[in-house]
Amino acid sequence: MNYLSTRGGVPPTSLADALNAGLAADGGLYVPESLPTVRPPASGSLPELAGAALAPFVAGSPLAALLPTLCADAFNFPLTIHPLPALHASVLELFHGPTAAFKDFGARFLSEALSALRADRGETTILVATSGDTGGAVAGAFFRRPGFRVVILYPDGRVSARQAHQLSAYGENIQTFKIAGSFDDCQALVKQAFADQDLRAALRLTSANSISLGRLLPQMSYYAWASQQHHAQTGERANFIIPTGNLGNAVACLLARESGWPIGRVVLAANANRVLSDFFAGGSYQPHPSLTTLANAMDVGAPSNFERLRWLYPQQQGRPEHLSAISVTDAQIQAAIVDTARLHDAVLCPHTACARVALDQLRAAGDSAHYYLAGTAHPAKFETVVEPLIGRPLDVPAGLARLLAKPAQAQALEANYAALRTQLLAQTKG
Ligand SMILES: *Cc1c(COP(=O)(O)O)cnc(C)c1O
Repeated sequence: MNYLSTRGGVPPTSLADALNAGLAADGGLYVPESLPTVRPPASGSLPELAGAALAPFVAGSPLAALLPTLCADAFNFPLTIHPLPALHASVLELFHGPTAAFKDFGARFLSEALSALRADRGETTILVATSGDTGGAVAGAFFRRPGFRVVILYPDGRVSARQAHQLSAYGENIQTFKIAGSFDDCQALVKQAFADQDLRAALRLTSANSISLGRLLPQMSYYAWASQQHHAQTGERANFIIPTGNLGNAVACLLARESGWPIGRVVLAANANRVLSDFFAGGSYQPHPSLTTLANAMDVGAPSNFERLRWLYPQQQGRPEHLSAISVTDAQIQAAIVDTARLHDAVLCPHTACARVALDQLRAAGDSAHYYLAGTAHPAKFETVVEPLIGRPLDVPAGLARLLAKPAQAQALEANYAALRTQLLAQTKG
């Protein structure tokens, strides 16, 4: 399988080259040359179904022969379903990986894949700007991996205390900088580094953000697993409500759907950033500066995977009948966390709570179908929001607790490209 750009300006590119490049040279996003058709197996474990979902997408690359091992090593943590019977829904809990967020699926596969594709003994630097979960998942996935160094930039004072600690707890081949600035400043620094040809001649630089195929494709795995299981048990397609920011998680679900997994309706649940709900209501696509909300990993005003939506559904201009989008306020997030804990014995993180609000809105509109809510993070990662609402402390998952017990070692850095450049070059080992 080769990959093309959503903007049509690059020749067919191998998966290995697309993975290393991140963004296509014409500024578009890599997409498969054609949509493959998978025949879902009648049963299988998560790594087995992940392998079935990914096989056509890695066909012809060096990853193809290694796929079973890659999937077994990357997806070595539980994936569980928490039923909410009174709501005729279930939470698909994607947060039992090492950093307690769904981004572990993508980051761990990316780490396995880049490691398998490593052609020589040189060092690759992975530069990531993060507003929270991405940096933690990438750090965790590449920690102590030979040949890789990770540099994380996060906005000082603008992530939760627990998130900041988690980003800063690794050391060794993971370097964390707390930037005196906003997340947009961090992203601008990363963009400058990627545009700096002299730097790139001195340093092998790779990105790990949500547009990377190495993160996007493996996120099909849990939708393949859940839909196969649902279909085997009920004979019906599985419907999903997906908390959405940059559309990485949701586009993976749609890619799984369009390549043959038994998936029915897909609902995008956004926070107060209305760019997608306005678009799905029939408006034009109008990116805007992001608003700050309680579901901060989804504070996105210009979803970076949007072009892939238009590519998937060209006839429908990105708005197929089975897809819809709902926007949720902070007050609704809070009410959903309280109600779900009190009446349904499940504690949701603020992002997953958006999916619960969306479910209520579907019910109000007369939709009685079963839905899976994608549970994107463990609520204990957002304790300052969740604990006051439910009135009790939350248990911290063991992996997260181990990290929080380590000393934090982020270095302060001004939001200045020259300062970052010096750091990037200073630490390179030949
Ligand atoms: C990253 C993230 C999201 C948003 O995922 P996208 O792929 O950007 O749509 C939602 N919830 C949590 C907890 C996240 O970390």
